[in-house]
Amino acid sequence: MTLGADISDLSADARSSASKGLSIVVPAYNEGAGLTHLHERIAALAAKLKQTYGLASEVIYVDDGSRDDTLAVARGLKATTLDVSVISLSRNFGKEAALMAGLDHARRGGAVLFMDGDGQHPPVLVETLVRHWIEDSYDVVYTAKAHRKNEAMLLRLAVRGFYALMNFRARHKIPPDAGDFRLLSPRAAAALRQFPERNRFFKGLSSWIGFRQKRVDYDPEPRAHGQTSFSPGRLIGLSIDGLTSFSVAPLRAAIMLGALIALAAFVVGLMILWETFVDGKSVPGYASVIVGVMVLGGMQLVMLGVVGEYIGKIIYELKARPVYFVAEKTTRRAGSDEMQTDIPLADSSRTAAE
Ligand code: UDP
Ligand code: MG
Repeated sequence: MTLGADISDLSADARSSASKGLSIVVPAYNEGAGLTHLHERIAALAAKLKQTYGLASEVIYVDDGSRDDTLAVARGLKATTLDVSVISLSRNFGKEAALMAGLDHARRGGAVLFMDGDGQHPPVLVETLVRHWIEDSYDVVYTAKAHRKNEAMLLRLAVRGFYALMNFRARHKIPPDAGDFRLLSPRAAAALRQFPERNRFFKGLSSWIGFRQKRVDYDPEPRAHGQTSFSPGRLIGLSIDGLTSFSVAPLRAAIMLGALIALAAFVVGLMILWETFVDGKSVPGYASVIVGVMVLGGMQLVMLGVVGEYIGKIIYELKARPVYFVAEKTTRRAGSDEMQTDIPLADSSRTAAE
C-alpha cells in the first residue's frame, strides 16, 4: 500500500485528530540494558504509524535518577523515524512523578501514550491503541492484563480488595486490572494536565476524567532484563498512597463500620437489660467486656491511622512542593543527528513546559 492511498482512506475527522502527532512517554529507572532494543522497536512502530496514519511521533524518555547507564544510553539513541527527547530528573522521584514529567514535556495538542521502559508493554500493541483513537475516536484507550492466573493468590486478593475499597460507593468506578500502558487523546491528555494535585494516581485519574474509554486486553511480556522495582512492601505503600490521594472511600467505610458496631452494641445492650430485668439472671461480664474493649480499641487505632493518612496528604498538598526537578533535557529531531541540550534553571512540574 502506498502512503497517499492509506492516509486518504481516513475520514477528515481522523486525519485532524492525527495532525498534532503522538508523544510516547517512557519512564526509565535502571533500564540501560534494554533501552537500545526497546528504542529500535519504538522507531519501527513510529515508521509504521507514519505510513498508516501520517502520524508524526516523538518519544520522551524520562530518566528517573537511574544508578546505571540509562541516561548515557538514552542520550545516544538515534532519531531516525521520530523525535527523541531525554529528560533526566535530578534524582529518583518514582514512576508517577516520571510519568508527570513526561506528560508536562509532551507536545501540546497531541496524543500521549505511556509505556514502560522494560519491554513489558509490547510496542506492536500500540498500533491497536492508536487505531482505536484515530479510527474509532476513543479518548482513553487503556490496557488490562488478560490473565492474572500466574500471579500469586495473595496478590490477586490484595488487588481485588484495593479496587473494592477504591470503588466503594463511588459514582465513577475505576476499572480493576487496568495498567499504566495507555493512550490519551489530545483532549484527554489536556484534561489530565489540569489536575492541581501533586500526588497523582494516573490510573485512577485517567478513568475519572471520563470521555470515551476503551479497554484492550493483553498479556504483558516478561521483563526484558533486570528486576521489578516494586517489592510487595512498596506496592502496599503505593496502594495506600493511591487510595488516600484519590478517594475518601476508606473514611466512608470507617463511618459505616463504626455505625455497624454501635448498632451491634446497642442490640447487645438491650439483650442484657432483658436478661437482667425479665429473666432475672446476672450476666457474666469479664470475657465479654475484654473482647468488647479490644475490638473497639483496635478498630479505633486503625481508623485513627486512616484519618492520619489523609492529614498527611493534606500537609503534602499544602506544602505544594514541585513533584520533580529536571536536571537536563536533550532533544534530537527526526532524521537529524544534532543534539540540543537544555539545562533548565529552577525548573519544576509547574513551570516545566509552560
Ligand atoms: N520506574 C520509574 N521510577 C521508579 C521505578 C520504576 O520510572 O522509581 C519505571 C521503570 O523503569 C519501568 C516502569 O516504571 O519502566 C515500571 O517499573 P517496573 O517494571 O519495575 O514495575 P512492574 O512492571 O513490575 O510493575
Ligand atoms: Mg515492569
